[in-house]
Amino acid sequence: CKMDKDEMIGPNCEVTFKEINDINQNIRKNVIDLVNTDFFKYFKIDLYKQCPFWDDNNAYCVNRACAVDIVEDWDTLPEYWQPDVLGSLSNGTTVEDTDDDDDEFTFLDQLCAGNNKQKFMAGGDVNYCDMEDFSKEGSVLVDLSANPERFTGYGGEQSGQIWSSIYRENCFTLNETGQSIAKDVFFRLVSGLHASIGTHLSNEHLNVETGKWEPDLDLFMARVGNFPERVSNMYFNYALVSKALWKIKPYLNHLEFCSSYDEDVKDKIINIISQLDSKIFNEDLVFEDDLSSKLKDDFRVRFKNVTKIMDCVHCDRCRLWGKVQTTGYATSLKILFELDEGDEQTKQHIVDKLTKYELIALFNTLDRLSKSIESVNNFERLYNEKLKSK
Ligand code: FAD
Repeated sequence: CKMDKDEMIGPNCEVTFKEINDINQNIRKNVIDLVNTDFFKYFKIDLYKQCPFWDDNNAYCVNRACAVDIVEDWDTLPEYWQPDVLGSLSNGTTVEDTDDDDDEFTFLDQLCAGNNKQKFMAGGDVNYCDMEDFSKEGSVLVDLSANPERFTGYGGEQSGQIWSSIYRENCFTLNETGQSIAKDVFFRLVSGLHASIGTHLSNEHLNVETGKWEPDLDLFMARVGNFPERVSNMYFNYALVSKALWKIKPYLNHLEFCSSYDEDVKDKIINIISQLDSKIFNEDLVFEDDLSSKLKDDFRVRFKNVTKIMDCVHCDRCRLWGKVQTTGYATSLKILFELDEGDEQTKQHIVDKLTKYELIALFNTLDRLSKSIESVNNFERLYNEKLKSK
């Protein structure tokens, strides 16, 4: 990636790419450990929810006809490499959410749900995501660690349609023309998510000759590396999520991350957050200009739509990680933009009311970005080696 690492990431992120690389190196191990703990590795999702935006009953596009054309000839490949298999969830990693107390997953689901079960704040909706799945009967718990985010073969027209409808959400209703920081932030968020997914699918790509999962440099360059602004948007997202975490630090004492079950969890969280810096992202600038301040409600509703668009994704594994990450960003936005209202008690209240699944999504989204940044650095090394060998 031809970019200057000492450059600042954006007008509201007073950190350089290099500084984020350093922070990431310091926290990486703890982040990996954290998302592999029992509390953080199960996410709840309704896999059968209808797409709320368009009728897609007859467009069940997980099969090879709708797959990406990276693999030249799907027909010659064995069944277990077909996109409908790669994009499915591993057997035995989901479980119905029943009231059966003996069930190990239900036990984990209920454990420490405690105070943060309640979903909505009094005095209006402050949520940036669709919260329905987390309390809905019929949702399943999925073990994220058994279903890594990687190449699935999902692509073609269906995924293109999803991405373009996500980018269209950035056309705010207010018919104002001028540039605004809020619009810019919305675009960078979505593009950073898109780039991060592209990085993961290139980093864990199926080599159909050897059957191994490995980094594919050419694919990474074509999707992300040749577009410095896409790389930059991933770093931007890293900054935004990190600042949200930094901001909840004073209010963490009340939260029970299953500490009775795993005493280390809170230590790991404190250790990660202590290495973050408040100047990494300045949320006060986002809705500061006249145009942006008028856009705040619209921004929230539109981001919520992005989280709902995930129900239109026809590849279960992609949908799962899409939901996790959009929920993680939505939680970050809620913390960044709603935590400044009111006194200390109100702030504590907002943090107390974060649901268990918002917290799980928040830290897993940090992990996704953290892995992407690590992969970008690895791809850079592979790129330089390739140049030298020429
Ligand atoms: P796409 O990635 O579909 O992009 C469409 C167009 O958007 C491009 O032509 C380009 O003009 C523009 N674009 C691309 N990247 C950016 C960016 N970062 N910023 C701004 N504009 C951009 N596939 C997997 O293998 N594994 C997954 O886990 C996975 N998860 C997905 C989750 C979601 C929610 C969605 C919608 C798709 C997912 N996919 C996944 C599919 C993947 O994102 C691509 O859509 C697919 O690989 C086809 O890629 P493409 O080259 O056709 O372009």
